[in-house]
Amino acid sequence: MTTRAWAARAADRPLAPFSLTRRDLGPTDVALDILYCGVCHSDLHQARDEWKNTVYPCVPGHEIVGRVTAVGAEVSRFAAGDHAAVGCMVDSCRTCASCERGEEQYCEATPVMTYNGEDRHLGGTTFGGYSERVVVDEAFALRLAAPSDPKELAAVAPLVCAGITTWAPLKRHDVGPGTKVGVVGLGGLGHMAVKFASALGAHVVVLTTSPGKADAARALGAHEVVVSTDAAAMEERAGTLDFVLDTVSARHDVNAGLNLLRLDGTYCLVGAPEDPLPVEAFQLINPRRRFVGSLIGGVAETQEMLDFCAERGITADVEVIPIQEIEAAYARMLKGDVRYRFVIDLASLREEAPA
Ligand SMILES: [Zn+2]
Ligand SMILES: [Zn+2]
Repeated sequence: MTTRAWAARAADRPLAPFSLTRRDLGPTDVALDILYCGVCHSDLHQARDEWKNTVYPCVPGHEIVGRVTAVGAEVSRFAAGDHAAVGCMVDSCRTCASCERGEEQYCEATPVMTYNGEDRHLGGTTFGGYSERVVVDEAFALRLAAPSDPKELAAVAPLVCAGITTWAPLKRHDVGPGTKVGVVGLGGLGHMAVKFASALGAHVVVLTTSPGKADAARALGAHEVVVSTDAAAMEERAGTLDFVLDTVSARHDVNAGLNLLRLDGTYCLVGAPEDPLPVEAFQLINPRRRFVGSLIGGVAETQEMLDFCAERGITADVEVIPIQEIEAAYARMLKGDVRYRFVIDLASLREEAPA
């Protein structure tokens, strides 16, 4: 089906209107009218070929929420009229050890990413959520509680990338009552990490370079805010944290954060700086600490996170924009000028004159 979208045609050209084809509904497929799509930093990296693997034209977007318009004959978990989400993946091999464990994001044959992935149905590459509609296998679609007002779904969209990226490591490393957690960075990922760690019952310490973010951090659920350039405040907390979640994707010093961990504490990276991060050996050796990473989450785990959020009323803090403002949004994201996630209202695309 012909579908309107916005695409990048080259690394140095702004996104612009584009027309793509969505596949016909297969027996296990769900078709969605996209209502909102979050704007992830990955979208910008990919649109501008900063990871050197972008296939053009590129339609970004992997924080998709929408309304189900049709389902294939074998679909059992969705019906027309339901609300659903699609995150970073739309398929995987489903047979390797990772897929068997429900960790499709680590599929040994490479999961099919929602955009810039290999389209196994139509050939070419997959196209993401900066578009009117999407067709996805129900195994990779996520159920959403019916909203009392569809506008509420704008704040749900970021959960399926920014949310799960921070939820999965917090759960894996047993963050809960009695644990002390540091969150480095207070952007799209960091603000979700603070909400989740606090909802899970942990004591949350936000580590930021911006003193001006203290009130905002507390409003999100942080118990303490430490300005990481304040050497005395950092030293006072040395060896006190059980877990640190580092969400920063710019170049930064991880050793200051490592120094806050107690014996057997874990420092986890979910931000992805382009350059290698120097780690001082003795920050790991004494006292014995772990330095780990984590990539999004599996489908079942993402559903578990969405169900937790629905039950607890947790959503992202968002600024809704029309698609026509995407380049301005990218420019503001690069300056850290967003609280805390831009989300595209796809009504702005539907109302656009045909290209
Ligand atoms: Zn993302
Ligand atoms: Zn697999």
